[in-house]
Amino acid sequence: MDPKTASNLSFILNKPHDVEFKSRDLPTLSDPHDVLVAINYTGICGSDVHYWTHGAIGHYVVKEPMVLGHESAGTIVEVGSAVTTLRPGDRVALEPGYPCRRCGPCLSGKYNLCPEMRFAATPPYHGTLTGFWVSPADFCYKLPESVTLQEGALVEPLAVAVHIVRQAVVTPGQSVVVMGAGPVGLLCAAVARAFGASTVVSVDIVESKLAFAKSFCSTHTYSSQRIPAPENASNIRALAPNLAGGADVVIDASGAEPSIQTSLHVVRTGGTYVQGGMGRDEITFPIMAMCLKEVTAKGSFRYGSGDYKLAVELVASGRVDVRKLISGVVDFEDAEQAFEKVKEGEVIKILIAGPNEKKE
Ligand SMILES: [Zn+2]
Ligand SMILES: [Zn+2]
Repeated sequence: MDPKTASNLSFILNKPHDVEFKSRDLPTLSDPHDVLVAINYTGICGSDVHYWTHGAIGHYVVKEPMVLGHESAGTIVEVGSAVTTLRPGDRVALEPGYPCRRCGPCLSGKYNLCPEMRFAATPPYHGTLTGFWVSPADFCYKLPESVTLQEGALVEPLAVAVHIVRQAVVTPGQSVVVMGAGPVGLLCAAVARAFGASTVVSVDIVESKLAFAKSFCSTHTYSSQRIPAPENASNIRALAPNLAGGADVVIDASGAEPSIQTSLHVVRTGGTYVQGGMGRDEITFPIMAMCLKEVTAKGSFRYGSGDYKLAVELVASGRVDVRKLISGVVDFEDAEQAFEKVKEGEVIKILIAGPNEKKE
């Protein structure tokens, strides 16, 4: 593809519920380690929808028009003079956040915690719902022949799940409860299975999501009731023999207060609880349960060293079939309708075909 004649149409958020399509100048390579990528497919994330509806997430506020999107796969069109690992035509999954590589967190191996992080579609940085994108070569992950570009766009949420499950240190034979059966919750359940967990319970309040979870990867599901958290927890513990003493690992991928409360009651003594979902800033937290059971509690934020690489490997080896999560693919010009569908909860994952790509 010749970038000079191709489209750099971009999907831009001006302010909440005010989006436009605009052709922007073609980006150019300024660093010899950078590559120019034509975007083929982009998934829509809850965070994209939140910026679209609210114009902010926490202290990240959209003040200037911002290109949305960060879950993308594309094709290399040009490489900088120092790039030896990629060549034009290579198909890649794009890791969309670029750390400084020099600060304390970066040098300690936790670059996802870099305070200088430039993350796509997190103000003030533009996102990937555009024609062409410049990335450092080492943040592009070459897709094996067997992996499609559509699957490549799912690597981003899968990497989020990989990071969460690694934070939880899931090992073979364990019991894992995942609160929330949205895309990240489903992928956490799938990664936990791939890591050898023998019992994986998906918990949600929406029956259709649980039915999907069962068909996708979960060994058990539980429909959360409007009852006290300890009661929901004891119902979950009754689902399988190796849950009787509580779950080895509980992952919250919902961010919802009742789910977090249930998490602390369902985890076993000495077990691990990881908070992956983001909801309200502050909640009522059963801290006594955490203390008395000596629970290991961790947060999880985006992804770091090795997570993208493993995510690509899980797709390539067929251990996580991300294709099942793709509810549909829309043309670039229909991006806003796709956002509407995600907001309404009608789809699991919808992909937007890049402006230079027609949907299949
Ligand atoms: Zn995302
Ligand atoms: Zn840094």
